[in-house]
Amino acid sequence: MIYWIHIARAIDRVTLHRDRCSEVPSSISSSDFWEGGWFDYPDKERALAAMEQAGTTDERKCALCKP
Ligand SMILES: [Zn+2]
Repeated sequence: MIYWIHIARAIDRVTLHRDRCSEVPSSISSSDFWEGGWFDYPDKERALAAMEQAGTTDERKCALCKP
């Protein structure tokens, strides 16, 4: 199982998704620090650690895929 985090710096939010969530884009474009972006992790522990390190105020779990 792959987990994705979506860092949205513009709205100061990071969201955790599971693999194959419909919100995860099929092709990931390059992202930069300010825009944030999508990042994949091979397990949930690493994804959660990355969420904490993202530095955003709002940490959420996706309501669709319920990671
Ligand atoms: Zn999701």
